[in-house]
Amino acid sequence: AIDPNFEQNREKVDEHNGHNVWGPVDEPESLGIHGTHVAVDFDICLADGACLEDCPVDVFEWVETPGHPESEMKADPANESQCIDCMLCVDVCPVDAIDVDAS
Ligand code: SF4
Repeated sequence: AIDPNFEQNREKVDEHNGHNVWGPVDEPESLGIHGTHVAVDFDICLADGACLEDCPVDVFEWVETPGHPESEMKADPANESQCIDCMLCVDVCPVDAIDVDAS
């Protein structure tokens, strides 16, 4: 599962589509965590797609990640500022790859 304390335990190494990327990143095998308010551990995401289907405000968009061992696309929190903290994505993710900071 994603580390809910990633902001303390990881370093911000990049930005992508307007959101932070938390390392370590070593492409294509290690992609880190994308997003902060809505955070997706790309190294756990297996492209199940439930979050894209269920998010009521379309926070997520697919990005291609060829060569990653878990899956060749990831649910990117491209519109994390739209999040309404409903927690549906956290509940439906089969591998607990998503952390939403609703506090
Ligand atoms: Fe979308 Fe709700 Fe997840 Fe926010 S908590 S990203 S609104 S599904």
